[in-house]
Amino acid sequence: MSDKHSLLRQIPKVDELLFHPEVSSYSPGALLTATVRQVLDNLRNDIEQGAIETMPSCDSIAREISLQFSQNFEPNLRRVINGTGIILHTNIGRAPLAKEALEAITETARDYSNLEYDISIGKRSSRHVHVEDLLTQLTGAEAAMVVNNNAAAVLLALAAVAHHKDVIVSRGELVEIGGSFRIPDVMSQSGCRLVEVGTTNKTHIADYEKALLNTKNHYSIDPVDNFTGALLRVHTSNFIISGFTTKPALTELAEIARKYSVPLIEDLGSGCMIPISGQPTVADSIKAGVDIVTFSGDKLLGGPQAGIIVGKQEYIAKMKSHPLARALRMDKLCIAALEATLRLYLNPETAVEKIPTLKMLSMESATLHKKAKKLVKVLGKDQAYVIEEASQAGGGAMPGENMATAAVAIKTKISAHALERHFRSGPVAIIGRISRDIFLLDVRTLAEEDFPLIAARLKEVDSI
Ligand SMILES: *Cc1c(COP(=O)(O)O)cnc(C)c1O
Repeated sequence: MSDKHSLLRQIPKVDELLFHPEVSSYSPGALLTATVRQVLDNLRNDIEQGAIETMPSCDSIAREISLQFSQNFEPNLRRVINGTGIILHTNIGRAPLAKEALEAITETARDYSNLEYDISIGKRSSRHVHVEDLLTQLTGAEAAMVVNNNAAAVLLALAAVAHHKDVIVSRGELVEIGGSFRIPDVMSQSGCRLVEVGTTNKTHIADYEKALLNTKNHYSIDPVDNFTGALLRVHTSNFIISGFTTKPALTELAEIARKYSVPLIEDLGSGCMIPISGQPTVADSIKAGVDIVTFSGDKLLGGPQAGIIVGKQEYIAKMKSHPLARALRMDKLCIAALEATLRLYLNPETAVEKIPTLKMLSMESATLHKKAKKLVKVLGKDQAYVIEEASQAGGGAMPGENMATAAVAIKTKISAHALERHFRSGPVAIIGRISRDIFLLDVRTLAEEDFPLIAARLKEVDSI
């Protein structure tokens, strides 16, 4: 007992530690004092529990305070190095932005802006105007608006044009996109009734027509209630149905939608502005006669998180004035980044160079090999070598399409799993993958500036 008492008496005073060089370098304040108190409280507890028999030095207590203080202030959301080769990885933030988009964010965040203010007349305006002209110009649509993300865009489109009505969807398109975005659930949340047609692998235009005739003829109490509100086409973003399959072309769907005077909505998922690896563009959908197209801003477009809606003026107007529009509206920083990204598309040739997503997607095999060889050189040939691999776009874009890529395989004295954990530790996590028991870093998504950091992390393995 007396030992504990004498130890407790030796605990340094708060002030004494605040003046210790290790602690005094931090800016003084309530948070620093609270951290000192916390560390001393823990020490007192340890002594009382008998977990400590000799008093730690003042220096080591100060080091503990410094460690705790800096940990408390290290941001939780931080940068990671993407060595997965997956360009649009939802878990690590999808599309990295172009320099122009970053500058637009900084500018808009730092100052006031004309977000909803028309400078020429000195009156209130709409936040959609900053991107609407760009979007109509790039897609050929009559009108456009933006919301928080594509899930919100689909919800708003359905709620605004097909509330209390039937929405016809092929059974092959009742998709679930990561998390909880499931077409049947979005449908019920937007107050529409889902009418499934066709089968998983085959849906014909006649299936849609049968449903259109059925709902129109089944007048019950309120005839309006039984009308079809829309035809919905959903891009099967994260899976492929192959083999014995059929689905009507967009032009056929558009034709039948016109025949029965119902809008055709297309959830395009990852909207391409310019043709990439044979992916249909948003402009293709508009040209085919789709009335409302929705897509994400942070998938193949390579911009910020956004839900973009383009299409016929009459429908877009309904969506803009719908009460949900306010709840789903996009924030000003994302609008700034989206406008800057869309502006880059005005010049398609330089867009591929300037938009990181497009640049990574279009990297040629030879370039990737060269990059991989550079990384091997930095890491050391005894531990690393180049291998041929396949990578995917990710983020629900181009499912089932593998792109040939070059990866660097790393072998050390520790197992692939231990190595993967080690690369993930540290202030900047380096994320790779394990294939056939070997740890890999795909160079497609790596920046050369990060090679020295990767080498330093690998070097630490020697001292494990
Ligand atoms: C990704 C995707 C969504 C969801 O888009 P978010 O922008 O992530 O909300 C919806 N539908 C399809 C077909 C998608 O691919």
